[in-house]
Formats: sequence, C-alpha cells, structure tokens
Amino acid sequence: GEGLPRPEQTRVIVVANQKGGVGKTTTTVNLAASLAVHGGRVLVIDLDPQGNASTALGIDHHAEVPSIYDVLIDSKPLAEVVQPVPDVEGLFCAPATIDLAGAEIELVSLVARESRLQRAIQAYEHPLDYILIDCPPSLGLLTVNALVAGAEVLIPIQCEYYALEGLGQLLRNVDLVRGHLNPALHVSTILLTMYDGRTRLASQVAEEVRTHFGDEVLRTSIPRSVRISEAPSYGQTVLTYDPGSSGALSYLEAAREIALKGVGVSYDPAQAHIGA
Ligand code: ADP
Ligand code: MG
Repeated sequence: GEGLPRPEQTRVIVVANQKGGVGKTTTTVNLAASLAVHGGRVLVIDLDPQGNASTALGIDHHAEVPSIYDVLIDSKPLAEVVQPVPDVEGLFCAPATIDLAGAEIELVSLVARESRLQRAIQAYEHPLDYILIDCPPSLGLLTVNALVAGAEVLIPIQCEYYALEGLGQLLRNVDLVRGHLNPALHVSTILLTMYDGRTRLASQVAEEVRTHFGDEVLRTSIPRSVRISEAPSYGQTVLTYDPGSSGALSYLEAAREIALKGVGVSYDPAQAHIGA
C-alpha cells in the first residue's frame, strides 16, 4: 500500500461511545486495516466481551483461546495473546473471549483496577505505530481501562436522531479520567459513520456535530455501505473483502487523515483520494 508518515511514538486510540450500534467495532477494524495497508504496524485490542472485532478480523476467540481477559485479570503478558491477522500484513489482534463479560465485576477487587491495560501495553515490547481499542457499549471498568491506557479518544457518531444524546456522559468520563488518572487523554477524533448525504437529517446532524466539535471531526465521513456490513461474516475487513468499494476507500481516506493530523500535516480535502 501507499506509505504514510508514521508517528514517532505509538498512538493509542480508544474507540468509544456507550451507545451500541454506532459503528465502533466496524470503525476499529477497518481503520486498523487501513492504517496497516498504508504501511503501519497496528494492534487491535478487543475489549468488548461480544468479541465482534475479533470475529471481523478472522481471529479465533473461542473460550480456550488466550485473550485480553487473561491479560487484565491474570496479568498474562499481552504478547502471549496477540495473534497476526490473516491476509493483512502488519495487523495484529488481542482477542476477546466471552469470559471478558465477568471481568467488569472481577476487576473491582483487583489492585490498580483502572490501569491494568495501561500496564500491559507499557510492557509490550514489539514496535507498533498504532493501537486501536474497541470498547464495549458501556462506561464501566473495561472502558475506563481503555481511557487510562490511551491518549486519544475516537468517537464514532451515527448521523441519526439523538446522535449527540449520551455523549455528554462520555465526555464527562473523559474529563474525570484526564483529571485523576491520565492527563494526556483527549478527544482527538470524531468520525461520522453510516452517513447518507442525500438525507436532510444526516446533513443536519453532521452540521450539528461539526458546530459542536469543530476540528476534531474528520472531513472524511463513512457512507452507509452494504459491503461494510457484509465483510465481518467472512471474517474480513472491507479492505480485503471489497478493496475498491466506497466503504473501503472512505476508511482508507479516514486513516490518511488521522495519520497526517498526527504528524501535524494539515489535511486538504481537495486532495482526497476519493470523490466522496
Ligand atoms: P458498535 O460496535 O458501535 O456496536 P458496529 O460497528 O457493530 O457498532 O455496527 C453496528 C451495525 O451496523 C453492524 O451490523 C455493522 O455491520 C453495521 N454498520 C456499521 N457501519 C456501517 C456502514 N458504514 N454501512 C453499513 N452498515 C454499517
Ligand atoms: Mg461493537
């Protein structure tokens, strides 16, 4: 793939929104694959007990597989659970198994319960350009572990009614974690997902989001695309499932925008590689 500037240090990006079905998992896996296709080394950490990100990447995550649960609860080194993603060079996944559902409760009584993921990442010695963390649809201890481990929060927003509802709670949690546990934490990126520019509602919501968040909102939005929704059932990202589709191209473009922003290069939508 086409090379992009690589960050000087590993960028840890937390993909969060406590609403379900807004495109967190879809964004995590397709953005991660796009960054890898652009030449980066990328790790996806699946922090949702549903394991949808693991499934979408074609990663085995049945109950016996070493997983992020073992890392969080039994202090297993992250390197012992990371698997290479088939067919995408430079892309890796730390899978979630169903026992992660119990971790939310089990973490409560452990020491350093909010920073167990951060410690595991700090001890991981393999070089990486990006770590993307797929969060569950809640603001419990799993999501707090992600917010402590990362500096950047990426919020996918679906352009529908009530898109901004509930975001206040996420933003307050980000402020709390920044104030008490992780001074570097900030919302770096808002991504509009399942965007249908032909509807008035979608463009109204998009405008509202841009007014509210300004420069954090990526110029690239992700269109509603059947190819994007089909890919996970083949254990593939849309990048390998249908590389020429509008969904694949928009995630590649969003990845380009994120990579350029990270090295302080301003992104010019007129130079976009797609006409979206
Ligand atoms: P979350 O992780 O926030 O719960 P998902 O990423 O699982 O959300 O997406 C919810 C549903 O929407 C899934 O069925 C997914 O395939 C579908 N979906 C996500 N993004 C798109 C898109 N751009 N176009 C069409 N369907 C999408
Ligand atoms: Mg999900």
